[in-house]
Amino acid sequence: MLKTPAWAASSAGKKLAPFTIERRAPGPTDVAIDILFCGVCHSDVHQARDEWSGAMFPMVPGHEIVGRVSQVGAQVTKLRVGDLAGVGCMVDSCRACEPCRSGTEQFCEKGVAFTYNGTEMDRRTPTFGGYSTRVVVEEKFTLKVPAGLDPAGAAPLLCAGITTYSPLRQWNCKKGDRVGVVGLGGLGHMAVKLAASMGAEVTVLSTSRSKEADARRLGAHAFESTKEEATFKKLAGHFNLLIDTVAGAHDYNAYLGLLRTRGTMVVVGVPPEPTPIGAFSLIGGNKRLAGSLIGGIEETQQMLDHCAEHKIVSDIEVIAIQEINEAYERMLRSDVRYRFVIDISTL
Ligand code: NAP
Ligand code: ZN
Ligand code: ZN
Repeated sequence: MLKTPAWAASSAGKKLAPFTIERRAPGPTDVAIDILFCGVCHSDVHQARDEWSGAMFPMVPGHEIVGRVSQVGAQVTKLRVGDLAGVGCMVDSCRACEPCRSGTEQFCEKGVAFTYNGTEMDRRTPTFGGYSTRVVVEEKFTLKVPAGLDPAGAAPLLCAGITTYSPLRQWNCKKGDRVGVVGLGGLGHMAVKLAASMGAEVTVLSTSRSKEADARRLGAHAFESTKEEATFKKLAGHFNLLIDTVAGAHDYNAYLGLLRTRGTMVVVGVPPEPTPIGAFSLIGGNKRLAGSLIGGIEETQQMLDHCAEHKIVSDIEVIAIQEINEAYERMLRSDVRYRFVIDISTL
């Protein structure tokens, strides 16, 4: 076992503080990674506060991990010592069921091993995330971070990037499509960059007027305030696709009204409370309301390669681990431009 410094929440809503975890010694198919950077996802905030219930403590959050490979098992072929590697939301799955075999490990029938707030496939050993100095992961669940991507800016691609890339691909985002991105935070700003890189005409729908100039700089063609009633009239029936990244309570029905006939709204944000849907919001115009959960490992590699080709990384604010509790507070105030990334050398 390898003693590893980390930061953890000891119980729901407690401030994160220094903690020591143990990582396993790498087995034949394991990759050991010295973590350089870890992005801060709003899911870290939801789970550290147990907003989705069933959270396991002590919890070491973090599933946007980039680091250097320090050791590989004898059978590892994907990565070598010294390579830049990534780890996202999953660290293992059964690898045998239909979803696992078809590249959607996130839907493993045995239950995927999430990077933290979960267990390894033995269902006993707790998993701990990237707010720590090292991680040991089965090679299938590691990603190659392409040369040319800034390691700190690439970290958020491992969750925010794949979570927005996957629905854009699934719903065939293409040149000329009108795509609306609801909420301009970590996921939202990646959705803007990725949809623009696929040729879409992107509109940001945000509660924060102060983000308008940033939205355009990130690649959006238009910005509309969702605090203004006029926006919902002006844009009624406008969009082919909406990607909803909002982390708090809001009315899905209002946004469904912005879709064209047969348009699709994909929910990726996870407000803690359920939201009522009126049947007429869907029936008028054969609207579709869909969800999307991260993406498979192969698709995550495709997303990283797409980002390297289009020179896309996240817009980040690098923080020391000592600033993590303040970063959580700022995310709750929608004050993030546009992803906090922890410099793990500060642990
Ligand atoms: P974030 O950086 O905090 O951004 C969320 C944005 O939503 C805010 O910046 C804000 O943008 C907008 N917003 C509007 N009303 C809000 C409210 N009441 N509370 C919070 N935000 C509000 O969060 P994120 O990391 O992008 O994550 C967004 C959501 O996606 C979270 O619920 C997270 O758990 C979820 N998520 C889902 C998946 C998946 O697989 N489906 C993966 C990762 C994360 P404006 O200022 O522009 O209005
Ligand atoms: Zn995440
Ligand atoms: Zn499986």
